Amino acid sequence: MSKKFRVFATCDIGPALDVLRQRGYQLEVYPEPKAPPKSLVLEKVRSGIDGLITTLRDQIDAEVFEAGKGTLKVVAQLAVGFDNINRADANRYEVPFTNTADVLTEATAEFAFFIMGDLARRLWPAEHIARDNKWGFWHPYLPFLGDEVTGKTVAIIGTGRIGLAMIKKCAGFDMNMLCYDPAYQNDEFVSAIQETMDLRHARGIQKEKTWIKYVPFEEALEQADFVSVHVPLIREGESTTPTFHLFNERTLRMMKPSAFLVNTSRGPVIDEAALARALKENWIAGAALDVYEKEPLPADSPLRDPEIEDRCRLLPHFASAGKITRLSSDPDKGMAGRCVQGLIDVLESNYGGDVKKMPYVVNKEAF
Ligand code: NAD
Repeated sequence: MSKKFRVFATCDIGPALDVLRQRGYQLEVYPEPKAPPKSLVLEKVRSGIDGLITTLRDQIDAEVFEAGKGTLKVVAQLAVGFDNINRADANRYEVPFTNTADVLTEATAEFAFFIMGDLARRLWPAEHIARDNKWGFWHPYLPFLGDEVTGKTVAIIGTGRIGLAMIKKCAGFDMNMLCYDPAYQNDEFVSAIQETMDLRHARGIQKEKTWIKYVPFEEALEQADFVSVHVPLIREGESTTPTFHLFNERTLRMMKPSAFLVNTSRGPVIDEAALARALKENWIAGAALDVYEKEPLPADSPLRDPEIEDRCRLLPHFASAGKITRLSSDPDKGMAGRCVQGLIDVLESNYGGDVKKMPYVVNKEAF
């Protein structure tokens, strides 16, 4: 390699960074586990780095692109979501940015499925009974019962990569599925799932016949026993179908009082104050959350109210947190590997230097 590229990583993303070191890159990694202050990111970018490795904790906007004008060639994000990167600003400064789609799809979907089951079968309060030595006797219905997932109806909100993977998991549990996506309806996938479920029924693998169909948003909310959210965070003005506060007082009230809400997408998709009320006043039965309007979840969040504790599972943005998913250096398996490869593609002008042909570049429209 003729040029020694300079890269700043705002976080240690693991052994995949050795790929850059072995290629002779001059790599600086922010050593703290917490995100660096923006002033430090600006300072590094201003110093003339070629590439910046980011996580969802870094706000990447015009200020950053201005600081790197003429020198910053790529921003490589360790996530599929990129709502922390201002796409319009990146486009204005013509800086490509990459994400790590696909490699975290199955991990995120299985996590959504697991926390749905955790919530419905009340695993957390049940384990507390055993641990806190309150397990006095076996009884048919005391101290409480849970709800089965098998045979129930789940609404999949957003049928992109993770939504479709969630459908696969739910099909295995003989669930009926209501799908909603205003921008991307994968009718072929939905038909294939229906055929698979029909075959399972015909061959006696599942007892009841099950179905899957696309429906309007309201219908999905009104009929579902579980609602699982798989949309990107899209703020007002960024699209005709924004997702900011898609779940608010009006839409939460459309759900059945016996229904459960699962969110592994982005926190601001749900109005948390409205959700806390929905739980407290029993508009819905429960919620399992991996993401929050503000992360980490503030100590005074209404979601921490002890009154709703048994019906509100709170996870620390953990859905993609599998060892291989997060850290593998293989770009076909791990977020870290894919992040590093996205950076290399741009800096080393792979694909004949054509950004539009680079698989991990998001904002191809700018080039
Ligand atoms: P994707 O782009 O493949 O799918 C998103 C789908 O949402 C698209 O089909 C899109 O048309 C649809 N959509 C957009 N606006 C909508 C609306 N208003 N209503 C319903 N659907 C709408 O993305 P993906 O790879 O499936 O990831 C989805 C999101 O999940 C990411 O953007 C990220 O924010 C989040 N995520 C979270 C974690 C985690 O650790 N909790 C991990 C991975 C991804």
